[in-house]
Amino acid sequence: MVKAVEVINLVKRYGKLEAVKGISFSFEEGTIYGLIGPNGAGKSTTLRILATLLEPSGGEAKIFGFSVKKDKDKIRKIIGYLPEEAGGYKYLTGYEYLEMNAKIYSPENYEEVLEYGATLTGLGDRLEDRIGSYSKGMIRRLLLARALMNRPRLAILDEPTAGLDVIHATEIRRMIRQMAKEGVTILLSSHNMLEVQYLCDELSLISQGIIVAQGRPEDILRDTGTDNLEDAFMKLVKT
Ligand code: ATP
Repeated sequence: MVKAVEVINLVKRYGKLEAVKGISFSFEEGTIYGLIGPNGAGKSTTLRILATLLEPSGGEAKIFGFSVKKDKDKIRKIIGYLPEEAGGYKYLTGYEYLEMNAKIYSPENYEEVLEYGATLTGLGDRLEDRIGSYSKGMIRRLLLARALMNRPRLAILDEPTAGLDVIHATEIRRMIRQMAKEGVTILLSSHNMLEVQYLCDELSLISQGIIVAQGRPEDILRDTGTDNLEDAFMKLVKT
């Protein structure tokens, strides 16, 4: 069976800096997969390559068999991408923002996609307000709904709960689990290792552009003799 995501010896250089140093990982459809590591590990770079927004310097990556180098258009039709930071659009209302995206990415059934996206936000009447007046948590929910509203085969979520308080982070995690139940395959990044332990079926621990461990959370804990991923990570990067 074709893998949902297959990354093979992926390299990314920014000038002299090698941010991603030949990483490989893959997983099946239906998985919630985590790319976990501290600031600057190379998570966003990897996700941006998979979302076809950045060219790799070496190696290959495939989404459901399509190459990020050769099949960008095909990939863009089957993924939803939540960027780490999204600026702009603060003068649009939340609703207008969803409508614009639905019309661009799902012209054939945009009304249905828009309605679903509006429900996913959970923002109710606040969708009529300008994005500039939203809190961080509201913006994150809006962007997450945008990434998921066309029911992508693969959702690529860069730090979906970054900067959120415990209530909003919990709500976002609930949305992610719900989407996974509905059949969306999920690849997410986080530096919150406890969150990932709770959310992900499988993961790669990444540090300075290198994968230091990968597998199911319980297997990594067993192999490192720890009871949480933070301790596992500290042990792995010190050895
Ligand atoms: P964070 O958790 O802080 O978002 P990350 O794991 O997502 O970190 P990346 O954003 O992929 O890490 O960055 C990896 C490395 O590449 C860092 O050293 C970063 O400074 C560098 N980098 C990222 N984007 C660029 C760029 N456009 N130009 C030059 N260097 C970059």
